[in-house]
Amino acid sequence: MPLSEILKTIEKSPTWETLAKLPAQLEALERRVAALEAAFATPSSANAVACPACGAAMKFVGERPDPTFGRLGFKEHQFQCECGYRTTRQWSQQKGYR
Ligand SMILES: [Zn+2]
Repeated sequence: MPLSEILKTIEKSPTWETLAKLPAQLEALERRVAALEAAFATPSSANAVACPACGAAMKFVGERPDPTFGRLGFKEHQFQCECGYRTTRQWSQQKGYR
């Protein structure tokens, strides 16, 4: 079998088609990871607790077992803003913030 025939056979194999797509998929994933890392690093991202009064990122100041669901593993996280606004959010390791 001539080399050109061998190459054509390889290029038609499903495994090769999958492998050929990997560099582009890897590049797309790297871009998504970089975007997610940037979002987490930015205080104004959706992951930060935004102050309902002024919109700034609130500072985590403490936690205690949730008064109602503490026995189930829920915590009450306390946040304070530079503007003086204070609030709490319910948090669990399984579900994050509610
Ligand atoms: Zn505020």
